[in-house]
Amino acid sequence: MTIGIWILGDQLHRDQSALQSLLEIQKPAHTPVLMVESSDWGHRRHYHRQKLVLVWSAMRHFAQELKELGYPVTYVEAETFTDPLHTWANQEQLQSIRIMEPSDIPFRHRVEELGSLLPIEMVANNQFLWTVQEFRTWAKGRKRLVMEDFYRQGRKRWQILMEGEQPLGGKWNYDSENRQPPQEGSQFPAPLRFEPDQITQAVMAKVRQDYPQAFGSLEPFQWAVNRSQALQVLETFVEQRLTQFGPLQDAMVTGEDTMWHSLISPYLNIGLLHPLEVIQAAEQRYAQDQDGIPLSSVEGFIRQVLGWREYMRGIYEWLMPEGYDELNWFDHQRPLPNFFWTGDTDMNCLSQSIDQIKRTGYAHHIQRLMVLSNFALISGINPQAVESWFHDVFIDSYDWVMQTNVIGMGLFADGGSLATKPYAASARYIHKMSDYCQNCRYNHQDKSGDQACPLNIFYWDFLIRHRQKLTQLGRMGLVLSHLKRMDKATSDQIQQEAEQWWQSQL
Ligand code: FAD
Ligand code: SF4
Repeated sequence: MTIGIWILGDQLHRDQSALQSLLEIQKPAHTPVLMVESSDWGHRRHYHRQKLVLVWSAMRHFAQELKELGYPVTYVEAETFTDPLHTWANQEQLQSIRIMEPSDIPFRHRVEELGSLLPIEMVANNQFLWTVQEFRTWAKGRKRLVMEDFYRQGRKRWQILMEGEQPLGGKWNYDSENRQPPQEGSQFPAPLRFEPDQITQAVMAKVRQDYPQAFGSLEPFQWAVNRSQALQVLETFVEQRLTQFGPLQDAMVTGEDTMWHSLISPYLNIGLLHPLEVIQAAEQRYAQDQDGIPLSSVEGFIRQVLGWREYMRGIYEWLMPEGYDELNWFDHQRPLPNFFWTGDTDMNCLSQSIDQIKRTGYAHHIQRLMVLSNFALISGINPQAVESWFHDVFIDSYDWVMQTNVIGMGLFADGGSLATKPYAASARYIHKMSDYCQNCRYNHQDKSGDQACPLNIFYWDFLIRHRQKLTQLGRMGLVLSHLKRMDKATSDQIQQEAEQWWQSQL
């Protein structure tokens, strides 16, 4: 009697805990592995075509890698997971089926349900640095779960950028040296891209034929699809992009899809890279070239992976059982405008960002936060509709990372469990941090009138509509004081124009 391993499409690492847990007990040759490409999963949403290709091509490459290591791999294309699991368990006469705990809670529940029909056992997920239990221990009893505190704990625990108990360079946070606006004439390095091999081309043909409802362009598909390529992306980042990552991480430039960003989230999220190796790669690069790479850049990058990524996943595990995904603190009920799918809008910042997502499945953090979700927040779109859209269209989207980023960080629909105030901004921010406003039909300075930027109208409308709620948040005082100086006629005019904008969308 044998234990078999069921591997999901976001668990593609040889050191993943289910495979690891059997190494001592069963030789690879005696460890059956099952991988399933489920068409039900592919049809569940309007996933980006390139996301479907990425996940399935990476699965096929990983299956090949495991076969070369001697594992008997059963790779099935089927409608659901259930039938292949039954057939495989019978064929292999399995005593039990072992799976690494899925990162997404809804899928974990499905596995638990299947556990009533099949002998399934889950082992703890090791694709994050903090286990769920460790995060709970950290969170328990704290009044506020502050990312900065969590991040510092992580720095100490893994001894990253530390000199003993003290942070390297004497400061924990170098954000004040980062976040610079783009400079005219700046050059950006081309991202490392890969031509599709035969395996990828076969998946592309399947997606082209069987997924007409999917979102975005299928071609050019240039993402990494195996570990060796993902490691090349990481190496290229630390060699060529890390230096400028910090200062320009919040800047946006027309036609520059990736700026100095790392482009590693698609690979971290399916297991092709592990967060610790990413963090250590950045730290080692800094150790080799302290004169060439600013500490602020390295710290800024490590904060994203060791801080934000782990924190978002911890909060997801902590708050989802209380219905985090249903929260709607502002009671926003507007529908998602159609241009989120087409990019067909005169608002240049939005059309540029959406066009880019259609072409690649990718937008960087500030496009996601300060353009897309900012617009959704201030214009009052329903948070669950926004979350669903983000989940559909991004190459790196999964439930565990989407709920906290969209419901919490982007839309403040959790009322402040995660952020102390909403990331709400007018055109002033977009104008400062990008060149989008230069080629827009709207005027970034106008608050009302035909040329007024809709982000200005909605920003003030948002403050007016939610004045009372926002007053409860201590950090909104300065912003609300501007509102106090606004006369009633102006305030009425803004609200009327916001309403008219929505009417024009219907
Ligand atoms: P870089 O800018 O180079 O950052 C390095 C890494 O830090 C990222 O690869 C990522 O792993 C990690 N990171 C940074 N911030 C976060 C964060 N807030 N949450 C989780 N990880 C973070 N990230 C996803 O992986 N999938 C998503 O679907 C996703 N959706 C988002 C939606 C919204 C509204 C917002 C505000 C953020 C979202 N993020 C998401 C977080 C972040 O924007 C992306 O991880 C990042 O843009 C990916 O590009 P990159 O690899 O070039 O990242
Ligand atoms: Fe966006 Fe307004 Fe600037 Fe146009 S003017 S790009 S809509 S912020």
